[in-house]
This record gives sequence, C-alpha cells and structure tokens, in this order.
Amino acid sequence: MTGLKVVTTIDERLVAVRADIARACREAGRDPGSVTLVAVSKTFGPEAIAPVIATGQRVFGENRVQEAKAKWPGLRERHAGIELHLVGPLQSNKAKEAVALFDAIHSLDRPSLAEALAKEMARQGRAPLLFVEINTGGEPQKSGVLPQEADNFIKNCRESYGLKVAGVMCLPPLEEPPAPHFALAAKIARRNEMNLLSMGMSRDFPAAIALGATHVRIGTAIFGERD
Ligand SMILES: *Cc1c(COP(=O)(O)O)cnc(C)c1O
Repeated sequence: MTGLKVVTTIDERLVAVRADIARACREAGRDPGSVTLVAVSKTFGPEAIAPVIATGQRVFGENRVQEAKAKWPGLRERHAGIELHLVGPLQSNKAKEAVALFDAIHSLDRPSLAEALAKEMARQGRAPLLFVEINTGGEPQKSGVLPQEADNFIKNCRESYGLKVAGVMCLPPLEEPPAPHFALAAKIARRNEMNLLSMGMSRDFPAAIALGATHVRIGTAIFGERD
C-alpha cells in the first residue's frame, strides 16, 4: 500500500499505485500485464482527469451514466484510445445510453437489465464487456446477484439473452476482511468458465490481485479523497 510514503500529486500517486499493482503481481507469480487498472474518476472533473490521461492511463471508471455523459465525450475528443467502464449500478431505462458510452459494464445483476442490454447491443451493434456483479456479502442494501443465484443468472444471461458475460465483479462489505469475498467471486467465475474478475479498490487491491483480479477499480488512491 501507499500509506507510508508521502505522495502528493496525482502523478506520484499513480506511479505508486502502478508499483503496488506490479508488486502484488510479482508476489502472486502473475504477469503484471494480466491486471488492468481502472482509474475510477467519479466526482472528479476534466481538470483532475487530464493529468492522469497525460501519464498514459487510458482506462477509466465512472459510477453514474449522466455524470459520465457530461464529462467524457469532451475528453474523448481530445485524447485517443480512452476505454470507459461503468462500475456503478445501472437502471434498465439507461441501458441505451450506457451501451453507447461505455466499453465495459461491471454491474449486470438482474434479468430485466440483461434483456435491456441485449436489445441495445443488438440495435447499436456494440458489445461492451459485461461483468456480472455478485453481492458476495448478501447485503440487502447492495446491488448484485446473491452467490447462490449466480450460476443460474449467468446461465440465463447466456441462454435466454445471448449475452457473452465475460467476468464477475464484487464489492466486499466494508466491515469485513475482503479476501473471502474475493475468493468466492473467483470461485463463481471459475466454475462458470469466465476469465475476468473485477475486484479490489484503493484499500484492498493487493489482496484482490493475490486472488486473481484482472480489473482493479481504484479511485481514492489516485485522485485523492472524494467530497
Ligand atoms: C468508487 C468505486 C470504486 C473506487 O473506490 P476507491 O475506494 O476510491 O478506490 C470502485 N468500485 C466501485 C463500484 C465504486 O463505486
């Protein structure tokens, strides 16, 4: 983690995060190229995002469709090769905008959304990478499919809606050690023959990488605290 170092600028924080990802990969005997850093820029404006793009970062995460729609078309005009990931919950009535804007959606968690996404993907001829969100802690206030319903839901996405679901996403309960949740998400992905694992945030990404994360979603450690 970056806790012991005094890091001040976005540049330095990004360098530190990349070094921590590389170290976690080394310790796990993994290729650092097997982990994608999704820089979660929610709540931050283009003036904070531009310096991160300038360091070479191209993959960004947002949690709201409207916010992303206001921010990213302009940034995309100025910078080539941006890949945008939706990491927050998605309402079915925003599926159209989400499919048009995002290259990956990490929050597929119910049949009505699977249906809306399938329809829009066919209509727009676009195929964002899809992750099924698992509510590994069974928390009532959180979105995500319950672990015991995951296999059926994934099968349903594939067979009823023809969706190529590529991976699993999880967001462990704040007050619990994250490793068992990461392990459970990894197990669900493996037994459903999915290769991608979206897990790990600022506070816990080394543990997520140790358990197979392919996409770490990191906001605070790069951009600083949100208001
Ligand atoms: C905000 C957010 C993140 C990033 O969290 P940090 O703790 O700031 O790194 C990751 N995933 C999701 C789903 C988020 O909403």
